[in-house]
Amino acid sequence: MAGKSVGVIGLGAMGLGMAQVLVGAGFTVSVFDLSAEAMAKALTAGASPCETAAAVFGQAEVIVLSLPAAKHVQTVLDQAIAAGHFADGLASKVVVDASTSEAEVSRALAATLAQTGHGFLDAPVSGGPSGAAAGTLAVMVGGAEADFNRALPVLEAMAAKILHVGPSGAGNVAKLVNNMLVASHMITTLEAVKLAQAAGVSAEDALRVVNSATGRSAISEIHFPNWVLPRSFNSGFTTGLMRKDVRLALELAAATGCDMPLSTRVAELWAEPQSGLKDADDFMLMGDPQADRSTLKDVTND
Ligand code: NAD
Repeated sequence: MAGKSVGVIGLGAMGLGMAQVLVGAGFTVSVFDLSAEAMAKALTAGASPCETAAAVFGQAEVIVLSLPAAKHVQTVLDQAIAAGHFADGLASKVVVDASTSEAEVSRALAATLAQTGHGFLDAPVSGGPSGAAAGTLAVMVGGAEADFNRALPVLEAMAAKILHVGPSGAGNVAKLVNNMLVASHMITTLEAVKLAQAAGVSAEDALRVVNSATGRSAISEIHFPNWVLPRSFNSGFTTGLMRKDVRLALELAAATGCDMPLSTRVAELWAEPQSGLKDADDFMLMGDPQADRSTLKDVTND
């Protein structure tokens, strides 16, 4: 059973909601983010601010990370190790890395921490900022069974679906597989909507049918109705993070010798020259049927 002392590092679109939910579940929550604005919001939510990321590891038994990428995860772990927070003989801690990170980095960190009796779980999530704020995320976990069991009370506060996929790195792999599909569904759903409109059926009617039939996905059922058709384009997930996931999925494909011709094409379409989208843009803009961008053209042949 995990103690009541939890840390959260990275208080962005996802991490802030996680910290709020953990405070609401009765945990003592120590937090750190490089952004003073994010820290102020977490303080308002009842979390205890720390001066550094390393200090969070000194306060908490279970430390949740929600950072942009593997390099940020590596940085805060290096800082915590250098500060002596994973030394031999200390009470055992478990790191729950909810970032969409890389299996190789997770495996190396898990092996390093295991040497001194501490745990590291790759635990990427799905469900967006609203799922993080409601404690209804899906979390896919890689790591040792004993570490998973110790982190379970924290995972249960954050998530409605908890899937222990396998050993270290398995959660990262599953998340990349999922998000490669998300990236593809954005483009195939856009193409379906454009085809329906061109042939005289509205986007609303086309999606009403798709979502009652076999072509549906989370993108057609949730994302298009909530963020594309109302033209709000504020899902809270950036194009830059989507590109990161697609790139990591294709790197995994290359490393494992897996041929992915359609996913390779999807990655090209998400790239800035063809989508016209900046990294900071909400990823739902990719589905905008009214956008006059070169999404569906092959610029390499122009
Ligand atoms: P974000 O950019 O909104 O938040 C990341 C936060 O990390 C920022 O507040 C930033 O200041 C902080 N940060 C960066 N480096 C730091 C460091 N060294 N120490 C402390 N804080 C640091 O990103 P997000 O949308 O919350 O995503 C976080 C992770 O969750 C990413 O890996 C993303 O791929 C994944 N994810 C996001 C969503 C989503 O819908 N936004 C959904 C599922 C998974």
